[in-house]
Amino acid sequence: MIAPAYDPDNIFAKILRGEMPCHKVYEDDHVLAFMDIMPRTDGHTLVIPKVAGRNLYDLPPEAFGGLFRAVQTVARAIKTAFTADGMTLLQSSEAAAGQVVFHLHVHLMPRRDGVKLRPHSGDMADKDILVAHAARIRAAL
Ligand code: 5GP
Repeated sequence: MIAPAYDPDNIFAKILRGEMPCHKVYEDDHVLAFMDIMPRTDGHTLVIPKVAGRNLYDLPPEAFGGLFRAVQTVARAIKTAFTADGMTLLQSSEAAAGQVVFHLHVHLMPRRDGVKLRPHSGDMADKDILVAHAARIRAAL
């Protein structure tokens, strides 16, 4: 099956263009990282490449280096900020895998021993909490 084309009007493309707000955690030439608006753990952060890519299949191969260097940078800061016992990375490609937003993104979810991920509730987190969590992670970078 041929994957559908990249849609430049997806929500993360709008965030990258500054047309939609986000709680920014980190940015460099290659990526933007921001708080997931419906976090499955406190500190749940998304890292997205600045180049267009629907998912794992079509991102230009040369974009993965910068992306995963930033994933490590942000993961280390989240670990410190939330004194995490572990970190779950998630990248879903296509709807069958659970992808909902079709601009490649890597989820970073800090974990605590014995604590399960919260289910997808569809409820947005309190804005003040996301602001505070983003500040905590930025301070640990
Ligand atoms: P996926 O299921 O595609 O891997 O994950 C998409 C993620 O994007 C979900 O965890 C969802 O909570 C998050 N999300 C959806 N819309 C927005 C938004 O407008 N802003 C932010 N920051 N996160 C979003």
